[in-house]
Amino acid sequence: MAEVLVYVDHVDGSVRKPTLELLTLARRLGEPVAVHLGAGVETAAPVLAEYGAVKVLAADAPEFNDYLVVPKVDALKAAFDAVSPSAVLLPSSAEGKEIGARLAVRIDSGLITDAIDLEAGDEGPVATQSVFAAAFTTKSRVTNGTPVITVKPNSTAPEAASAAGSVEQLSVSFGELATGTRVTSRTPRESTGRPELTEAAIVVSGGRGVNGAENFHVIESLADSLGAAVGASRAAVDAGWYPHTSQVGQTGKTVSPQLYVAAGISGAIQHRAGMQTSKTIVAINKDSEAPIFDLVDYGVVGDLFEVVPQLTEEVKTR
Ligand code: FAD
Repeated sequence: MAEVLVYVDHVDGSVRKPTLELLTLARRLGEPVAVHLGAGVETAAPVLAEYGAVKVLAADAPEFNDYLVVPKVDALKAAFDAVSPSAVLLPSSAEGKEIGARLAVRIDSGLITDAIDLEAGDEGPVATQSVFAAAFTTKSRVTNGTPVITVKPNSTAPEAASAAGSVEQLSVSFGELATGTRVTSRTPRESTGRPELTEAAIVVSGGRGVNGAENFHVIESLADSLGAAVGASRAAVDAGWYPHTSQVGQTGKTVSPQLYVAAGISGAIQHRAGMQTSKTIVAINKDSEAPIFDLVDYGVVGDLFEVVPQLTEEVKTR
């Protein structure tokens, strides 16, 4: 069976959920071989095996930490040469997309980014994308070389499937460009205790209807009761009520959670572009004509300051 390389996104061996999703999708295409770069493979390997990695190719070197993506591209290329896979999958993070694009150039292959689904096809993997502000769904396939595909977080639910996951050391020699861009400092994001927006299974977002930074605690309380991330519309961000890192939409982040709750958000096309592929969409808006109601699974016409706290209380009792 053909092997499929899966780039492992992790923090010191703690594997992030999008990688488990990639392993789940990779099993549709062949046998997943995980590529783990940096420290912590002994922690990561059992988890990768639990989600179907037949093998874990591991390399650790200071270059992975000290420089931006090129050393990782060198390592992924070494893994590619070692395995000759039928496809390479990476998470659709900024880093994943850059590594994927650089690898595709090096191996003279086509690249598909931001896939939301993958299936095996007679002539290679077929990727589904949501395009033009989510107005269309397209299916595409790489016709030149080994497909390199980045997949959006939350595109599928991770499913365990036990495999050997034996660790093999990957020998990597870094090219001239590897040390071209040095990381000069790292400042950890101030922890809110909430999941990362693009990876969260549930997102609760507030818009102009929240009417002030001082009212966003209403949105945060619902998010915390659900274990969700907090998002915001551009109107709320431009008004300075919530940080830009939380903006959902065309000029913000794209999210695709299992559940998206929009409170006091009208549903402009630019906002929809960032959340329309969410599995279940719930909106709370006092205007029954708001365009957001055209795409919701559940809509509540009402004042968010009445509805959201009630919802929070209800969730807490469960
Ligand atoms: P509004 O459109 O003003 O809607 C507020 C809603 O809240 C209304 O529907 C109102 O009925 C409701 N409301 C008010 N009070 C309450 C209450 N008490 N209870 C319940 N409901 C209430 N927007 C984004 O979000 N993300 C982007 O990335 C983005 N990128 C853009 C890029 C470009 C190039 C452009 C031109 C625009 C972009 N926008 C983006 C802006 C977008 O067009 C909208 O202006 C914005 O999404 C509106 O935000 P909103 O829905 O919060 O505000």
